[in-house]
Amino acid sequence: MRLLVVEDEPDLRDALVRGLAREGYATDGAPDGESAVEMAALTPYDLVVLDLGLPGMGGIEVCRVLRDRRPPPLVLILTARDAVEDRVAGLDAGADDYLPKPFDFRELTARLRALARRETPTRPAVLTVGDLRLDPATRLVEAAGAPVALTAKEFGVLEYLMRRAGEVVSAEDLLEHVWDDNVDPFTNTVRVQMGNLRRKVGAWRIETVVGAGYRLAVPGASRPGSG
Ligand code: CA
Repeated sequence: MRLLVVEDEPDLRDALVRGLAREGYATDGAPDGESAVEMAALTPYDLVVLDLGLPGMGGIEVCRVLRDRRPPPLVLILTARDAVEDRVAGLDAGADDYLPKPFDFRELTARLRALARRETPTRPAVLTVGDLRLDPATRLVEAAGAPVALTAKEFGVLEYLMRRAGEVVSAEDLLEHVWDDNVDPFTNTVRVQMGNLRRKVGAWRIETVVGAGYRLAVPGASRPGSG
């Protein structure tokens, strides 16, 4: 999942970006509301951790802009303790959850997992394709009933492929959704991760479409030209 941290306090921002990257999120940081809006226009973030007390464009306004994106990211706002008006304004602006500062990092990650588990028409809680099952909240993957241990990156790649099962997904799509902004666009990291993932879940599940990308096979689905 792609995640954006919007926080003007540099130490806190850096700590959150590093900590959330360790949790397996492809995480970027924005120092103010204007940067956040620009970054979200270029990158389809799944989750945004948004400080409300920002210089310039305020967090509430950022939240409104983000909610107009299609599909909208899930937004968790960080508020000052006891700032009830802020919290209410944030939820009114479309935030999905809030956390008062100061907070424990473990509580933040628990809230983010709960948000990822929240079912919406475009975001089923548990993904299943044939006998492949992936739970974004618990990060458990099963193939044919057996658990599969994946690295954070492999998990991100598989989740993205499963959300688009049967469609061709390009390496560029994967870099944009599963890696953060620091990735070298000319890297072969997608090919390497794909090779590892194939070995773990069964190579037949992930087809290479020459010159276009990768496709997660949907059992029982017929494709044009396959008879
Ligand atoms: Ca702040």
